[in-house]
Amino acid sequence: MMNNQSDINLTERVKIEYEQYLAPTYAPKLLLVRGEGRYVWDGCGKKYLDFAGGLAVNSLGHAHPRILKAMQEQAGKLMHVSNLYYNEQQGALAKELVTLTGPGKMFFCNSGAEANEALFKFARKWGSTKGKFQIITATQSFHGRTLGCIAATGQDKVKTGFDPAMPGFLHVPYNDLKAIEAAIGDQTVAVHVEGIQGEGGIRPATAEYLLGLRKLTNEKEILLLMDSVQCGCFRTGKWQSFQKILEGVPGGEAFSPDAIAMAKSLGGGFPMGAAWFSLPYADVLQRGSHATTFGGAPLACAVARAILAEVQEKRLDQNIAHQGQTLIDGLQKSPKDKVKEVRGFGGLIGVETVEENLSVVARLQEAGLLTVPATGNVIRFLPPLNTEEAEVVEALEIWRENL
Ligand SMILES: *Cc1c(COP(=O)(O)O)cnc(C)c1O
Repeated sequence: MMNNQSDINLTERVKIEYEQYLAPTYAPKLLLVRGEGRYVWDGCGKKYLDFAGGLAVNSLGHAHPRILKAMQEQAGKLMHVSNLYYNEQQGALAKELVTLTGPGKMFFCNSGAEANEALFKFARKWGSTKGKFQIITATQSFHGRTLGCIAATGQDKVKTGFDPAMPGFLHVPYNDLKAIEAAIGDQTVAVHVEGIQGEGGIRPATAEYLLGLRKLTNEKEILLLMDSVQCGCFRTGKWQSFQKILEGVPGGEAFSPDAIAMAKSLGGGFPMGAAWFSLPYADVLQRGSHATTFGGAPLACAVARAILAEVQEKRLDQNIAHQGQTLIDGLQKSPKDKVKEVRGFGGLIGVETVEENLSVVARLQEAGLLTVPATGNVIRFLPPLNTEEAEVVEALEIWRENL
């Protein structure tokens, strides 16, 4: 191809700019220049099936016409106004999210870490009149990179070098009710867990754990908070991962946490985070107690509303449940000496490999399939909610040939 040379130069040029001008917090190897549906193209024109999905963000894949239309219309009308004013989109999105989640109220922000911070501040505010502030989280959890969120995260690798840690967090093993029970003390205000640990290796909570946590936190009169940043927003085929885990389980219907942090898939690639507070606690955070300049801006809310409408009209929740199951079934047929376990649901799947995950991820990338490594030698498949059957078949073919 004529322009191959200049395209190679493009990759080289960007690489040099990164080396010279970007703090080396990331180590990318591949330049992506364009995307369409579930595919992306690199700087040399090579095509990849994108099951990295922007790290569980691109809920409708790339360049989705409905998102583009919503962005164009809203940007031409009102892109940003301060929260000193009402904006129609924020009110409408809050209503839609409350309808999906349960009676309560929303607070909008711009990322997963901020959504968790909102939950932590909420819990501390609620506990402040009771002398309670400590939040119990799980080992191998991941809650984001702010000082509060690294204190909450149960993995040393995010904490190293950033002491002193923010006080008030305690980690106990995941899926272990006894450990939580033993850890709850006079100063405990909340338990905060992921429905499915994402970065920690796609480890779903068990139904007994979730129901047990609800019972225990009710008995102890403390809050149950959930981090749905990665596992929420229809990723599992259900709006919330706990609905998937508790599907058909006696008592599961009635389960609800007291607050939920959301982000990632919610904005489909536009930065967006949200906190949901259940009705009894909906007014804990009062005027002046919490705020963000960008949170709930019309453009972000319009995008999130377009995604919700598309998912619900086209039943993409059912689609990803089905496509994900086909993918899981296919992955489970992998040779036992190469794959230890396949976990997850829908668009949130983890494969624990025998070989070092990074080498397998690199090989898959070379063969045209993007995936994401996770803790515990896991490879994540994070296909968008509108993934089609042929793409699942293609992913499985590349997997089989390169495992
Ligand atoms: C990604 C993630 C976060 C952090 O979200 P950011 O948008 O990167 O701040 C928090 N919790 C979980 C479970 C995540 O997967």
